[in-house]
Amino acid sequence: MNAAPNEFLLANRRALHETAVVIGGGIVGVCCALYLQREGYAVTLVDPEAPGNSTAKWSCGQIAVSEIIPLSKPGILMKVPGWLMDQKGPLALRPSALPGILPWFFRFLMCARHSKIVDIAQAMATLTHDVYGDYAPLLDACEDKTLMGERPIIEVFDNPVGIAHEQPHLDLRASLGFTSQRLNAKEIGDLEPALGGRFAHGLLFPDWRAVSDTEGFIAALTQSFMARGGRRVRSEVARIDEENGRATGVALANGERAAAACVVVAAGTGSRRFFPALGVSVPLAGIAGYQAVLRHPGVEMRHSTIYADGGFCFSPMTRGLQIGGTIEFAAPNARPNFGRADIILEKARRVLPQLQTADVEYGVGYRPFLPDTKPIIDRSRRLPNVFMAFGHGQLGLTLGATTGRLIADLAAGRTTKQDLAPFSAYRFS
Ligand SMILES: Cc1cc2nc3c(=O)[nH]c(=O)nc-3n(C[C@H](O)[C@H](O)[C@H](O)COP(=O)(O)OP(=O)(O)OC[C@H]3O[C@@H](n4cnc5c(N)ncnc54)[C@H](O)[C@@H]3O)c2cc1C
Repeated sequence: MNAAPNEFLLANRRALHETAVVIGGGIVGVCCALYLQREGYAVTLVDPEAPGNSTAKWSCGQIAVSEIIPLSKPGILMKVPGWLMDQKGPLALRPSALPGILPWFFRFLMCARHSKIVDIAQAMATLTHDVYGDYAPLLDACEDKTLMGERPIIEVFDNPVGIAHEQPHLDLRASLGFTSQRLNAKEIGDLEPALGGRFAHGLLFPDWRAVSDTEGFIAALTQSFMARGGRRVRSEVARIDEENGRATGVALANGERAAAACVVVAAGTGSRRFFPALGVSVPLAGIAGYQAVLRHPGVEMRHSTIYADGGFCFSPMTRGLQIGGTIEFAAPNARPNFGRADIILEKARRVLPQLQTADVEYGVGYRPFLPDTKPIIDRSRRLPNVFMAFGHGQLGLTLGATTGRLIADLAAGRTTKQDLAPFSAYRFS
């Protein structure tokens, strides 16, 4: 049931009138703001962009609860030379990125051991098991009840070899309570007629859900936050102010100063500028993913469908059929290479020759990635009233609400349900 604004603020008298500032209004920031608000804080959310215009706008919209296996799957080292040579592959490493990314990459490769994969998957599963429960009160408070659709996700393969390679990961997911079902040609065609006759090997992930308007999703959450008295300021945070070992507020690029008893850094890759104040040294990289949105695709698709061997995903969104994904390591200020979106479109046309690609919009998002694929959900040791919520990589949309709930627990001084040691900002020291 939705609480009225006043009941809402009275929910926790201890924190009432205390102010909190959340830096970054992407999916993670807005969920932190909503959960702090439920805690009784008067929250200011600061972001220079309009609500919804953040990385998740260009995501595939999947609530990928069993996507807990890190990117650093075994055998990855063997693939690196291929990525460097083949700029049309699903994973690309721009040569200019190489010097900057090498230390990150080294740590990434260290996570390719089986025992490490299992550790990471287990830790991630502790978070993803709670995703729907943590989103429920936030979505319940929004007017639109259709923001998250109960559509499972499909993954299709050219041949059974791809599924065989995935089998150990499917087994690991199953051991952690996530299901998947094998699909044959008929089942794929029944679920997704446009792909009928094209694929004979697939998987269905029944426990995933999907957001088909990723921009609108964050805008609606922001709207709900503001309807309950939250303040959203369109500016950049230039600095965290501090006195006697505690943050006192933030200074904004527009000259304003916002006092705060509690500050949350949830600025995606933009969190890097606050590392000196936080007293952390974290290998946070921005890994590009490209999307092409076809407004009039001439093809109807019902489910988000990952084409594993092509390295991209078809996502039916409200704005059109979105085709994208891919992973590109580029230098931090490199200009987007939308040629990669064209490469994806070319591959998509090979799968669906009837695809109409004339009316297309391109987008790029920079996933905030740590080399072990786990986010940071922690408290700064240098400024104990500052909290960190960034580095969600390929799962920020999925983990937004769970991160928000955990940050509110930390701010309230409660013991968190999940063990947050695997998500410590100090694990890289
Ligand atoms: C191609 C692609 C596909 C993806 N698919 C999925 C998917 O299917 N499912 C899933 O769960 N995730 C997916 N992701 C990942 C997901 O989009 C990200 O993990 C998520 O958006 C990160 O959210 P965030 O709030 O941490 O960061 P961001 O969305 O990057 O938001 C950070 C915000 O902070 C603001 N900011 C930066 N610096 C400052 C400052 N100094 N002051 C104030 N504000 C600041 C920025 O303007 C921005 O709005 C995908 C990503 C990409 C690129």
